[in-house]
Amino acid sequence: MNRYWSELARRLSPYVPGEQPQIPGLVKLNTNESPFGPSPMAIEAVRSAATETLRLYPDPQSTRLREVLAEYHGVALEQIFVGNGSDEVLAHAFVALLRQAEPLLFPDVTYSFYPVYCQLFGVEHETVPLDDGMRVRIDDYFDRGGSIIIANPNAPTGIALSRADIERLVGARADAPVVIDEAYVDFGAETAVGLIRDHPNLLVVQTMSKSRALAGLRVGYAIGHAGLIQALTRVKDSFNSYPLGRPAQAGATAALQDETHFQTTRSAIIHNRAGLTAALTGLGFEVLPSSANFVFARHPNHTGHALATALRQRAVLVRHLSGPRVSDFIRITVGSVPDLDRLTDALAALLATPS
Ligand code: PMP
Repeated sequence: MNRYWSELARRLSPYVPGEQPQIPGLVKLNTNESPFGPSPMAIEAVRSAATETLRLYPDPQSTRLREVLAEYHGVALEQIFVGNGSDEVLAHAFVALLRQAEPLLFPDVTYSFYPVYCQLFGVEHETVPLDDGMRVRIDDYFDRGGSIIIANPNAPTGIALSRADIERLVGARADAPVVIDEAYVDFGAETAVGLIRDHPNLLVVQTMSKSRALAGLRVGYAIGHAGLIQALTRVKDSFNSYPLGRPAQAGATAALQDETHFQTTRSAIIHNRAGLTAALTGLGFEVLPSSANFVFARHPNHTGHALATALRQRAVLVRHLSGPRVSDFIRITVGSVPDLDRLTDALAALLATPS
């Protein structure tokens, strides 16, 4: 069996999410959660779904939630797919859409779950390097076969492509499915949802985890041509016909109806991001131009690993990723002002300490 175990370990090499330690007083800026709570309407809807109807199976089609999403995004009900977080929606997209005769293309660097899904589902892939400014170069994807997945804004860089760039891409590659992962789109990037009408090859994936502050509820969704959505639904129905429980369906539906909370909290995050960027620049960091709820920054005198470790000793958690293009950097979630002050104070103290 020894060869079997090592082959199994090679084939199943999972994504490692940011840690969730239970340390009192910890400043947690490592997993891009919202520093603000979700809409009070969402909390109330979760509470009443949990107290009144847990005995019953949920609606397998999540129809009410999909209706509200369809109205919100100006598309038809058959153009919406929902899943248990956008990670699950993406998993279904890998199985249903992205396995083609030619390799799937995505940037190097991007969300590190993509290669994990390729490995798990046997999807051949090729990566396309970012340019010297850590940007995705759309033109590099034009003359190649295979489907495409791009996170916009990209992770972990936070750099966004314009809607015009995405339009050029889906137009130039009209023969292949193109998935745009918009997990962070609400923090200043342009959504590609409006392009779906003219581009049946485009699937846009969004999440309620970031700008709606519902990471704990696990709700993500995809918007696209009804043919793409039907393919996702077939895969879903072959795994689990009830991906979203009643509290998740009810909470997500209510969150979408609280536009004031959504706008206030996302504006506050955009505002805090500007303050964080200025503070880090003042401390000598290079900060990539972020359109997300995190920034990716490096310091000329310290490795990303050294910074993340020293911050952890001061009870501040940020994310450090390994890899040739990223290991100099730390990724910092845009938190509340007091948390960001704790971070910048800790950085100032450790940069003042001779290493
Ligand atoms: N896409 C990207 C680019 C992400 O960074 C994340 C969060 N780790 C996700 C998708 C998944 O988010 P969720 O499953 O919480 O919707």
